Amino acid sequence: MLEDTRRGTRIAHIGIAVAALDEILPFYRNLLGMEEVPLADSDGARIAGLAAGDSLVELLEADSPDSPIGKFVGKRGPGIHHICFAVDDLDATLDRCRAAGVRLIDDTPRLGAEGKRIAFLHPASTAGVLIELTEQ
Ligand code: ZN
Repeated sequence: MLEDTRRGTRIAHIGIAVAALDEILPFYRNLLGMEEVPLADSDGARIAGLAAGDSLVELLEADSPDSPIGKFVGKRGPGIHHICFAVDDLDATLDRCRAAGVRLIDDTPRLGAEGKRIAFLHPASTAGVLIELTEQ
């Protein structure tokens, strides 16, 4: 019998834009006791991953002020940048969002960090939260 691999929608990671990784990393690592998970850089940002149960906190430091994270920090300062949900079927979820009139940033999934397929939804359609969708 095939194993049912559906897990339901869950938080994959929370992306936090930071001004300087080295300054904030000790807070998460040493004070909160979170273990570091090596992650590749992506979208013009240095990324430090920290394990939080089945989820991750991703600290994002811009390579340049012109990168997406650099612009975000320049405009609003450091803070929560996006929440990433892992869904069982990314294409079906994106189709449902499109049909419901949700504004999509990525009309079709693209390859994100770690080679996973991802797609972003526009905050204008999601109560002000930049949402990244991925799949496991
Ligand atoms: Zn992300």
